[in-house]
Amino acid sequence: MTDNVSDLVLDGNVAALLLQRIFSRDITLAKIRCDSCDCVSGVGSLALHAAPMGAVLKCADCESDLMRAVDTPRGLWLEMTGARYLRF
Ligand SMILES: [Zn+2]
Repeated sequence: MTDNVSDLVLDGNVAALLLQRIFSRDITLAKIRCDSCDCVSGVGSLALHAAPMGAVLKCADCESDLMRAVDTPRGLWLEMTGARYLRF
């Protein structure tokens, strides 16, 4: 039994509405914070490096990889290990 609301654990389907609101927006208008240098940039202003493994968006200040998108036969992948967050 839970003691308060913070102990309540539900499955990920409950977050569907919130996540759909986030991912339906124009990604180019989002702000992204670099985990390496802490700068904030507009996603639409990042430099795109086309690579065999997909599209890599790099930080404008330190050139760390912020986002990597790859379309494969097994699905569309988005990696954001170099970013702290996206803000819409
Ligand atoms: Zn950076």
